[in-house]
Amino acid sequence: MTMIAANLHQVRSRIVTACAAADRDPAGVQLLAVSKTFPAEAVREAVAAGQTAFGENYVQEGVAKIEALADLRAQLVWHCIGPLQSNKTRVVAEHFDWVHSIDRLKIAERLSQQRPDGLPPLQVCLQVNVDGGANKSGVSVDEALALAQAVASLPRLRLRGLMAIPEPAPDFDAQRTLFLRAAAVFEEIRAAGIALDTLSLGMSADLEAAVAAGSTLVRVGTAIFGQR
Ligand SMILES: *Cc1c(COP(=O)(O)O)cnc(C)c1O
Repeated sequence: MTMIAANLHQVRSRIVTACAAADRDPAGVQLLAVSKTFPAEAVREAVAAGQTAFGENYVQEGVAKIEALADLRAQLVWHCIGPLQSNKTRVVAEHFDWVHSIDRLKIAERLSQQRPDGLPPLQVCLQVNVDGGANKSGVSVDEALALAQAVASLPRLRLRGLMAIPEPAPDFDAQRTLFLRAAAVFEEIRAAGIALDTLSLGMSADLEAAVAAGSTLVRVGTAIFGQR
């Protein structure tokens, strides 16, 4: 077994254990392998070990990898999880399947306009700032519902859920408390009649707390591919 295959196995068992502790079905938590800074060959190794969903932060690097792995394109799902500027939306709309980092309407409108007709709608999550830091990415908790309503009406996007990246907290309970803020916004938007199904929370260091707070998708890089 390769190192990546062994790491994937270990991360999957962490998810299963966290689900058992939270009394949840492991089928309700998807693993997104974050391959940023690692070469296409590392992604191939993960695919050989059964992984199909991959996350990239940097648009140019991600597109280069998607193109290098064009032979696997039909079986892979590519998620753009990094901050997105207006001048990068077209290439994202043309190459990725998902975007997790929508934090303003202008970016969502551009992605919708630029999504090619031959492709299915782009699957999107809003990034929510649950720490309240003014200079952090993400829509504020107070503005999330209004943004969700606007994004849900765009024709070439399909709003699936929320993503958050809280600051590291000192312990499990403190980390879970931050994740629960995202879960509360998720429930607020669902209560308003928007059918979200994806809560993108948790990384290598804190996936257990995220699963305890209701995460349906954990984004794991280091624990699969190694230190960057
Ligand atoms: C890098 C990154 C991850 C993965 O982080 P690890 O700590 O390496 O698991 C997850 N989400 C986002 C948005 C990232 O930028």
